[in-house]
Amino acid sequence: MGHKKNSFPLLAVICMLVATSCNNKTDTSEDVAAFIIPEAPANFFGKPDEYLDWQSASLLNIVRPILLKYPPQVDEPKDRQMAMVLLDAVFHDEGAPHRSSVQNFHHQQIVTALDEIERTEVSSGMKIWKLYDMGIIVRTKSITVAFDVTRGYSSGSEDFALADDVLQKLSDHCDLLFISHYHRDHADEVVARMFLDRGKPVVTPPDIWAGKETHDSITHLERKAHEIQKLRLDNKQLDLEVVVYPGHQGADILNNVVLVITPEGYSVCHTGDQSLGDDFSWIDKVAEHHKVDVLIPNCWTTDPLRSAKGYAPNLIIPAHENELGHTIDHREAYALDYSRWDVPFNKIIMTWGESFHYNR
Ligand SMILES: [Zn+2]
Repeated sequence: MGHKKNSFPLLAVICMLVATSCNNKTDTSEDVAAFIIPEAPANFFGKPDEYLDWQSASLLNIVRPILLKYPPQVDEPKDRQMAMVLLDAVFHDEGAPHRSSVQNFHHQQIVTALDEIERTEVSSGMKIWKLYDMGIIVRTKSITVAFDVTRGYSSGSEDFALADDVLQKLSDHCDLLFISHYHRDHADEVVARMFLDRGKPVVTPPDIWAGKETHDSITHLERKAHEIQKLRLDNKQLDLEVVVYPGHQGADILNNVVLVITPEGYSVCHTGDQSLGDDFSWIDKVAEHHKVDVLIPNCWTTDPLRSAKGYAPNLIIPAHENELGHTIDHREAYALDYSRWDVPFNKIIMTWGESFHYNR
């Protein structure tokens, strides 16, 4: 396959980073020294694909320590922003999902998140993990909710996707799964079955897997704006409060926009691929009915400013960036979030496997 597109000049990037660390004397000079540039052959003549593999591995080695040093936060340091833009450069190589460095980055990031999820008890607020595309896990003191978690086959590469046992463990640590709509970057029947086999509800719009056995085990809540419905969680002996907004992707695809109100009174709204203008009839009024703590929108949704005002959340965490199965023109970059989501609400931009602890 011809992986000829991306050639973000590595040397220029390193110069930029060295320049920032000089401007900011107390800061990153040790980090720059710690960057590991992989060994290279004497030359790459006639081997452009191998060069791009090497470049991608080098850039990801630069990104990793920066993300560790500067985790997701509202007031982002410039170093973290540059790391996010470097990720865009790596992920906008058309061959990205087929490069072992990108596959390893995805696997390592999610396994690190899984490790955190296995170890973390939340005593206040909500801890939020962002996985691939719009995969999100939210934990409070009493429950753990999953949204649109998949293995990542939508990337177009089996080797990029997560091993089933990673998802088995994730589903052990979650109490239920919401799936916004049927597209495979959001809906993964193997993952849904893992939840169902553990007696944990999977909530979807009515059309997903229609005619298949899985469909009979799915919970189909009414798609009704603003109205709180109770969803029984047998494993937790509690009724979870949920609003399922009747969203759409384009005119025809049913897309559940789900607002979960946790037993602690925190609320999180995950929009899936919401993108129909007519739905502003209810989006404009969400905040009149419910307090939204955290909004997790698809970064490319229709009219981000109007959406943000409709939900009026305390915090926005855009998602769906860098879906590697999309062509370059619809593989939204993290960098676009800085402009498209330049709205008068707090926002945090996160990559795969990162987490943020939200408190009011
Ligand atoms: Zn999508």
